[in-house]
Amino acid sequence: MAPVTVVTGGSRGIGAATVAQLATAGHDVALCYRRDEAAAHAVLRQLEATGRRGLAIRADTTDPDDVDRLFDTTGDQLGPITGLVNNAGVTSPIGPFIDLTDDDLRQVVDVNLIGYIRCAQRAARRMPPGSAIVNVSSAAATLGAPDEYIHYAAVKAATDALTVGLAKELGPRGIRVNAVSPGLINTDIHASSGMPDRPRRLAPQVPLGRPGEPDEVAAAIVWLLGPGASYTSGAIIRIAGGR
Ligand code: NAP
Repeated sequence: MAPVTVVTGGSRGIGAATVAQLATAGHDVALCYRRDEAAAHAVLRQLEATGRRGLAIRADTTDPDDVDRLFDTTGDQLGPITGLVNNAGVTSPIGPFIDLTDDDLRQVVDVNLIGYIRCAQRAARRMPPGSAIVNVSSAAATLGAPDEYIHYAAVKAATDALTVGLAKELGPRGIRVNAVSPGLINTDIHASSGMPDRPRRLAPQVPLGRPGEPDEVAAAIVWLLGPGASYTSGAIIRIAGGR
């Protein structure tokens, strides 16, 4: 039977690239999104063109009922869930820490931390041995993101702790848990934070001299979910061009 993997935030950016590469690697995939139905269905069509089965489900990871529906529907329609990519994430408008609003803080914590924990829990409850979870963290966890979004960096550091703890607790059940820590990647997330040209602007700070592409992160995620990573658990793989 083909592996069945849930990718949160699969309609754009790193999530969409991951869905495409998972399909090529032989996974059936359920992707969720929050708003952009057209983008999600375009990713689904691309997945189905490979001959794999897929679902595009509108589910906000901050809503417990939506998350239950995401996992129930996937299990019912695609079969036992063997993979989760916790990817759906948001930043806040770039700015000084002292100007951070409570609403922006709450949103970053709700989506990037509570949403990840909720999805990991729903996955872990039903995953058979041999399954794997990949959390998409950020190099911000160690860089701190000063003058941009320190609260986001703090939440991504929590993602790393979540990964280490889950790897230890779920390992005895045969479930591997890892994270990837992307640096500056060319996606729409930078426009959402009010600086669409952030990748180009910050490229000189990257030892490799350029931003990364979503496919370069997706490749590591797909490897972590696959048989080649059968003894890899609790790892946090930095994909940040040397930064
Ligand atoms: P992106 O292009 O903005 O895409 C975000 C995706 O998440 C979209 O599919 C969006 O769906 C979905 N999403 C957001 N909030 C959601 C929610 N509450 N429930 C369900 N889906 C939700 O972002 P990206 O750059 O690919 O980022 C993906 C992950 O990588 C995030 O965790 C981010 O923190 C991390 N990361 C990114 C970078 C970077 O430079 N790009 C660097 C380090 C880490 P809708 O469009 O429907 O809202």
